[in-house]
Amino acid sequence: MARKKFVCGNWKMHKTVGEALALVAELEASLKEAAGRVQVAVAPPFTALKPVADAIGHGGSVELAAQDVHFEKQGAFTGEVSATMLADVCCTHCIVGHSERRQLFGETDESVNKKAKALLAAGVLPIVCVGETLAEREAGQTLAVVGRQVRGGLAGLSPDQIGRLTLAYEPVWAIGTGKTATSAQAQEVHAAIRALLRELAGGVADEVRIQYGGSVKPENAAELMSQPDVDGALVGGASLKADDFSKIVKGAIR
Ligand code: PEP
Repeated sequence: MARKKFVCGNWKMHKTVGEALALVAELEASLKEAAGRVQVAVAPPFTALKPVADAIGHGGSVELAAQDVHFEKQGAFTGEVSATMLADVCCTHCIVGHSERRQLFGETDESVNKKAKALLAAGVLPIVCVGETLAEREAGQTLAVVGRQVRGGLAGLSPDQIGRLTLAYEPVWAIGTGKTATSAQAQEVHAAIRALLRELAGGVADEVRIQYGGSVKPENAAELMSQPDVDGALVGGASLKADDFSKIVKGAIR
């Protein structure tokens, strides 16, 4: 069965509540025709999750994702938010292991793994990000690095749990740089990730969506997502403008 494409906008540290509500209203209006054909989510900052959840309601054309989570259920972890809290504000998904978290905030494969488990236990679906740096690509280590991140991030998960998550391949050198992987470069890594998922979870591997992320724009989205193992996109900068993000979503429809 064909995998439904899944496009998620990562708003990072952008948008006040008012700005977030305006953007999501524009998106809902322009994505009506794509509803049901492409799965769409947006990941606002924590402060805007609840207002955006209230605005989109259940079963609308746009779902809600968080950008990060803490793996403990509760406790003395100043500044952190638990998976239960995300479920409480109707997040269906949560990004984990984003390269900015890995590079700037000390995220490791081990913490990604704990976060994925905590999210699954709370009924929030993880979007697990992996990707190599430019130096790693130039040293020919891309598949080794990505393989290590996938194995580490998914360690101890059952095939059923793996079947519920999404992976996002985001080459670090392509994030926010305007440099995009070619569709052939993306497909090569996505196919390798799928082969690894088959090893870890058997036939479930064919159901797991693998998004591409890294300077996805209206101009390159359709080509990237036409690749057999590219099942959608994780979009940063271009998700901040309703028009660009809608065009990217529409690029997922064949
Ligand atoms: C991201 O941060 O997940 C991302 C892909 O950013 P951009 O689209 O801006 O490269």
